[in-house]
Amino acid sequence: MANKKGRVFSGARPTGRQHLGNYLGAIRNYVALQAEYDCVYCIVDLHALTTLEDFHLLRGNTAEMALDWLAAGIRPEESILFVQSHVPQVTELHTILSMFTPLGKLTDLPTFKEKARMHPHNINYGLVGYPVLMAADIALYKADIVPVGIDQESHLEFTREIVRSFNFKTGKQVLVEPQMKTTNYPKVIGTDGAQKMSKSLNNQIELALTEAETAARVMTMVTDPQRTHRTIPGRPEICNVFTLHRSFTPEADVERIAADCRSAKLGCVDDKKSLAASINRELAEFREKRAELAKNPDYVWDVLADGAKRARVLADQTMDEVRAALGLP
Ligand code: ADP
Repeated sequence: MANKKGRVFSGARPTGRQHLGNYLGAIRNYVALQAEYDCVYCIVDLHALTTLEDFHLLRGNTAEMALDWLAAGIRPEESILFVQSHVPQVTELHTILSMFTPLGKLTDLPTFKEKARMHPHNINYGLVGYPVLMAADIALYKADIVPVGIDQESHLEFTREIVRSFNFKTGKQVLVEPQMKTTNYPKVIGTDGAQKMSKSLNNQIELALTEAETAARVMTMVTDPQRTHRTIPGRPEICNVFTLHRSFTPEADVERIAADCRSAKLGCVDDKKSLAASINRELAEFREKRAELAKNPDYVWDVLADGAKRARVLADQTMDEVRAALGLP
């Protein structure tokens, strides 16, 4: 760990089994970052409470998500993988940082406005404070780097402001101002061919499906609407099946597929069959590993308990410094 470039922190809400959007947009990057950084990956169950109504799903979703991350290549002996609520120091830091957070800025954030629109009957205090809890997560583990998608950039900028304000007002450089590592992840479109792949839209292809289930799901994908007959040439540039080929099919074959689609030599059914085969090839090792890990239901909880133990050591150090900087008696 000593020769790594710095510490990475990232958190995601426990949404259960992960799909191709999570995989291409986040997990692959998490796995790659381990080579260069000391990584802290957190399943943010407290954040999930801001909008969740089915509380009983939290535990199962946490285990499924952790299994997916582990099977995809998060190495728990090297990185810290844990559940946010297992390190309660984050809630103390959240309270403290909330005193350094201007309320007007919080309610002005586009992400808050969007969430308030989506959950008009549940605009709770925690929802407004979501970015403060995120700042507490990042600051508690003194992350140097936070990989974020474009949609999270305003939150990270907000974290930086809160950290600066804390350090300035206390006159102590206790907290670390994190740098953004913008991941140019593709926005993966779902089987409907129109919207972002997401569990809530039921347009997802989960990583943990069997080969046959994956093929069946791929068969439901919407293709070029202009191609109403097998003999009509397709437009790969607007077809989501083709976009996914770019992520899963070897480059040499991708160009041939595009040409054969444009000349109508290749029909949509065969095209989808070949995409399903490519996805299944890429995920074969993942599935084997996931099945192996799932045989022992205690495994994932043991990993998460060990991660929390290591995270608490970092959290305690930071909180000692934070309390001292504030002069808390
Ligand atoms: P959260 O709200 O905790 O970020 P999500 O399940 O929405 O939970 O996303 C988890 C991660 O997966 C995020 O980094 C997100 O950007 C990425 N992700 C989710 N869906 C997609 C998608 N369709 N395309 C690309 N990335 C995605």
